[in-house]
Amino acid sequence: MVDKKKTILIVDDTEINIDILLDLLGDDYDVSVALDGENALEIANEEPLDLILLDIMMPKMDGYEVCRLLKTNDNTKDIPVIFITAKTDEDSIETAYEVGGVDYVTKPFKPRELIARVKTQLNMKLLIENLEFIASHDQMTGIYNRRKFFELAEKKFLQKQDNLYVAMMDIDKFKLINDTYGHPTGDLVIKAITKTISGFIESESIFGRLGGEEFAIMCNHESLEDTLKNIERIRSMVERCEVIAENKEIIKCTISTGCTKMTKETLNLDSLVKEADLALYEAKGSGRNKSIFR
Ligand SMILES: [Mg+2]
Repeated sequence: MVDKKKTILIVDDTEINIDILLDLLGDDYDVSVALDGENALEIANEEPLDLILLDIMMPKMDGYEVCRLLKTNDNTKDIPVIFITAKTDEDSIETAYEVGGVDYVTKPFKPRELIARVKTQLNMKLLIENLEFIASHDQMTGIYNRRKFFELAEKKFLQKQDNLYVAMMDIDKFKLINDTYGHPTGDLVIKAITKTISGFIESESIFGRLGGEEFAIMCNHESLEDTLKNIERIRSMVERCEVIAENKEIIKCTISTGCTKMTKETLNLDSLVKEADLALYEAKGSGRNKSIFR
């Protein structure tokens, strides 16, 4: 498979500079161009970019201002910015870093230096993305880990969206599976169930493994009925799921789910999750393989 070309936005009010940069970078990268700050902000907001080369001296909005605005927008704050500058005085350079730039290149361009700096920042971005993925995903299943689930759920909670639900799910008698068949098989069960549940998770929903055999979903649905229908579908698909143990035996298992809805009275995310947890205990205590709403 060929790696997708990285995307770079060049922002400069002088066309000759753009031509030079296009000449240097156009073959190896997907390059977009903006002649002023406003247009640059628009493009950055709409297109996924890996890097921005940003001129400092521009009429109307200078590069510093553009960078400040990029860094205040969640969609654009993580795009590395390399400043293009004719100024090499310390004040200008210090400001470039202060407003969020990661590096600067000076005009007239030194081609090999420019390309090396671009490559370094692109590699750095990839490294950061990989580390962020590792820090936010469960290694075994690839879904969100506990920390990321709560981080994203908190964001959603604070938006006070209508029809917000939390479901806590737990594999029934999982300890018995581990004790009977061993941990490698237990891991296979967790992976198979994660895959089954994933098939019912809408793109807007947050699905995470909180630890061990415990999962959580935060989702929006039109109605309570829709939510319960979805949870019930998940329960019945898990019930049908078969995992082949290391000793070739076929294992079947079930999950219990506790679900709750955010109301005006819900104080915070913790209390919402606690409520779903209580419903989960109820499901466990009253026979398992069932979903309870409270
Ligand atoms: Mg300029």
